[in-house]
Amino acid sequence: MLKGKTALVTGSTSGIGQGVARAFAAQGCNIMLNGFGDADEIEAARAAMEKEFSVKVAYHGADLTDVAQIEDLLQTAADTFGTVDILVNNAGIQHVAPIEDFPVEKYDKIIALNMNASWHTMRLAVPGMKKAGWGRIINIASAHALIASPFKSAYVTAKHGVAGMTKTVALEVAQHGITVNAICPGYVWTPLVEAQIPDTARSRGISEEAVINDVLLLNQPTKAFTTIEQVGGMAVFLAGPAADNITGSLQSMDGGWSAQ
Ligand code: NAD
Repeated sequence: MLKGKTALVTGSTSGIGQGVARAFAAQGCNIMLNGFGDADEIEAARAAMEKEFSVKVAYHGADLTDVAQIEDLLQTAADTFGTVDILVNNAGIQHVAPIEDFPVEKYDKIIALNMNASWHTMRLAVPGMKKAGWGRIINIASAHALIASPFKSAYVTAKHGVAGMTKTVALEVAQHGITVNAICPGYVWTPLVEAQIPDTARSRGISEEAVINDVLLLNQPTKAFTTIEQVGGMAVFLAGPAADNITGSLQSMDGGWSAQ
């Protein structure tokens, strides 16, 4: 069903984005990877994905906090593959600190990457999708698009913004064969989560083990992390025909966190 489509997945050199890119490649989609990392490792992962799934995989290292680089990424994807059929806005960073100590440049960066970049990629991808009469936009938001946690003021602000733009753009493109949805995972075990454990421990004055058990999984009734593969599976579902009439939705994958 998705074979031959092109999926652009931002922040796909690591974690959830890499998993989502692999999930679409497994469906026969050509992939445009994006994100930071060691050049040799990225090239090895790109080539391996091409070989494993017999699809075309390209890479563009745009820094998505820079609008000109976002424009170049979308242009390169269109030049390479002809079109972007599936856009997955996934790139994101985190910073954990009380608001009075929150570095201003970190706030600006989180808003630029976690929120504004998704607005720009949608702005640039929608015309091609409208022309094709088909498109799928999947924004990797967070449970923090629905509920808040202390010390994450920038992240929670950005993710609530993503929820708003998901619904708004969904309404705008509803009659063009394009759906726009957000996936809202609770905690997924990735480098992003691992990296915030020491800061959270410091901010709360507790051990790193206590952060995992008493903070991260405290609100997830299943007491389990969501997996990268599960997020990839949800993204593929949202791009498939069973989801043709699902748009403007926020799909929770949080072990029951937001049900409380
Ligand atoms: P990660 O740190 O493993 O991956 C982040 C990706 O974004 C990497 O590929 C990185 O190179 C890329 N990136 C960072 N800055 C960038 C920039 N300026 N321009 C382009 N790419 C950039 O993180 P992850 O945990 O896989 O998170 C991916 C997304 O999922 C984020 O939006 C995050 O908010 C969201 N999310 C994660 C969790 C979780 O528990 N891990 C939960 C809910 C939502």
